[in-house]
Amino acid sequence: MPVPISQAWTVASYVLKQKLKGRKQYPLVLMLEPLYRCNLACAGCGKIQYPAHVLKRELSPEECFKAVDECGAPTIAIPGGEPLMHSEIEKIVEGLVARKKYIYLCTNALLLKEKLGLFKPSKYLTFSVHMDGQKGHHDFSVCREGGYELAAEGIQEAVKRGFRVTTNTTLFDGADPTSVRAFFDEMMELGVEGMMLSPGYSYDKAPDQKHFLGRARTRRLFRAILSNRKPSWQFNQSMLFLEFLMGKRDFQCTPWGMPTYSIFGWQKPCYLLQDGYADSFDELMKETEWAKYGTESNPKCANCMVHSGYEATGVDYTFSSLRGLWETAKATLFTKNEDPEALRLLNEPVTPIHSYNPLVQIESSANKLEETRA
Ligand code: SF4
Repeated sequence: MPVPISQAWTVASYVLKQKLKGRKQYPLVLMLEPLYRCNLACAGCGKIQYPAHVLKRELSPEECFKAVDECGAPTIAIPGGEPLMHSEIEKIVEGLVARKKYIYLCTNALLLKEKLGLFKPSKYLTFSVHMDGQKGHHDFSVCREGGYELAAEGIQEAVKRGFRVTTNTTLFDGADPTSVRAFFDEMMELGVEGMMLSPGYSYDKAPDQKHFLGRARTRRLFRAILSNRKPSWQFNQSMLFLEFLMGKRDFQCTPWGMPTYSIFGWQKPCYLLQDGYADSFDELMKETEWAKYGTESNPKCANCMVHSGYEATGVDYTFSSLRGLWETAKATLFTKNEDPEALRLLNEPVTPIHSYNPLVQIESSANKLEETRA
């Protein structure tokens, strides 16, 4: 089961209500960024390159609640920055639990063990721990030796104390599919409820611009990883989105599906691009030129297959027709996805990034804006 029944029911009834109201553009997950400060400096991150005065700022709990109430989405993801470094994170979580919102607190877990006492286990609160792969790969990806062990300890402690815990994994070019599959075994053994996956997005501000995946390479990588699936692996996300990543279906982006609110306001148009800010959620929805975005409409979107743009498309598709419901039920119940060609892909030699690039490259090069064919 990808998510617990009570959560799936809350999301399903919310989406059906939007459909009954005839609302074509509705938010599914609010990406609430209460700060950009972090205790890591990951090579693929576009957030922590802000100047010091921006990194010092935080949204207050009241500002967070106002944004959550304006938006109305049933699920709140709290990325950042590192939310556990927010000076009032426990008040934010408490206020959201009181509003019966399903919260994914996205953390690198370096502080998780130390801060767990601030929170109470609840069906509404999930720690979504950033883990990018097995030890060598994760430590390279977050540019921190020992990061994997610290995060794994945090996960185990949180599971032991009765919290819901998932992982979120961003995959970049050079990811070894066999190692990623072994990593899934490791995470399930740590006791996580489920895993979330996404390819990375090429942020202009990220220091390492060399290892972002193009669309064709993304499909090939996810086909190798997610075909011939083990029954023990659980994924805490839309099964149709996973099929999209594997190249089994084509989706268009839903940029309003996961709107972002941060210290700058409501970000236009999505979590990944910054084409200005709106003062209110209503203004964001009414004044953003949505037609300017998406794979075929904008060079900045050409290679994007990121969950914040496409997962909402999968959820909307599920509830748009009986066919959508049937296809989702099939994808949820029959997860094996047998594919002999994908097994062959697992045997192809891979050169892990950290074997030839032990240091993060801080310089930035020109972005490729066309969809990558290879
Ligand atoms: S395709 Fe990606 S970058 Fe473009 S609007 Fe959608 S989510 Fe944002």
